[in-house]
Amino acid sequence: MLSITSIKKGIVIDHISPGNGYEIFKLLELDKADFRVALIINADSKKFGRKDLIKIENEIDLDLRALGILDKNLTINIIEDEMIKEKIEVDLPKMFEGIFKCKNPRCITSSERDVVQKFELVSEDKTIYKCAYCDHLLNMEE
Ligand SMILES: [Zn+2]
Repeated sequence: MLSITSIKKGIVIDHISPGNGYEIFKLLELDKADFRVALIINADSKKFGRKDLIKIENEIDLDLRALGILDKNLTINIIEDEMIKEKIEVDLPKMFEGIFKCKNPRCITSSERDVVQKFELVSEDKTIYKCAYCDHLLNMEE
């Protein structure tokens, strides 16, 4: 049994569908982290049989709800003093910042480092977002 209490303060991304854990790990650039992170693949899950899990011993200044775009089953637990302080439900946000990058090389967010990536939902059925700066589409089903 893996216990959440092995981290004092940080974030646990739980109930990730098997296979998505590594995607999210890369997306959050946790391979470059200088704090403790753990990616657990194929852990036992009462709800789904198997799940992936990410433990981050740090605070991340990101809109983690946007991870629902990749996997709407996951749950985000904010840990403080080895206890779950807050649970964040994910869904398809109407708008989100950060995490995903605009793929248009001419977009202002590609050249200006200080501009925060911003996306607006255009199709809920197909999970398509558009960049708020250049209208370039971000299709999550591709
Ligand atoms: Zn753009």
